[in-house]
Amino acid sequence: MIVYPVTVQELIPTNAYFYIDEDTRHGVLIDPGSEADRLLRVMKKKDFRLDAILLTHGHFDHIGAVEELRKNLSIPVIMEENGKDYAEKPAWNLSATFGGNYVLKDVTYKKNGDIIEFPDAPALHLRLIHTPGHTTDGCIYYDEKRHVAFVGDTIFAGSFGRTDFPGGNEGILFRSIRDKILTLPEETTLLSGHSEPTTVGEEKNGPIWGRG
Ligand SMILES: [Zn+2]
Repeated sequence: MIVYPVTVQELIPTNAYFYIDEDTRHGVLIDPGSEADRLLRVMKKKDFRLDAILLTHGHFDHIGAVEELRKNLSIPVIMEENGKDYAEKPAWNLSATFGGNYVLKDVTYKKNGDIIEFPDAPALHLRLIHTPGHTTDGCIYYDEKRHVAFVGDTIFAGSFGRTDFPGGNEGILFRSIRDKILTLPEETTLLSGHSEPTTVGEEKNGPIWGRG
């Protein structure tokens, strides 16, 4: 699998990730927050063929390019099943405040434990794990075989997501991180929306979540 990060820059810098089967060039794009044109150019240049857009949660800086991309690609957009408020209400996805007034239509909702896979991308196998707290619909996409997890704004290198937006709850976030992320194998690479990559081991033994 190829992980190809693109840090899109409009409004807030956010890491979007292409996750692509090397053999077939098929795969997914995770959290296209803005700069649809640039993402389409990357696809063309790298010969990436998308089967779906996956969202780790419904905040404006992760969904901003979705509708624009869909004008060019007719592919499903996948969110966790609690995502409806964020998909449909600019006050919840914060685009009412930060600009854009985004409303996502035609979302495919998946639930905790669901597997994301596509016939055209045989190497791609991601499990959706619900990790609420930053938002109610927060989730990670976990590739157990390759020890990679796309974690959105749940956890960052040496930090964690804000909980002062609609649906946020610090106690719930900390439980998600401790029970669902730090319990993954230590070598798991965590790819977040707004930080450098980290690993479960580094975070588990680091200043925030480590003992002492
Ligand atoms: Zn967020």
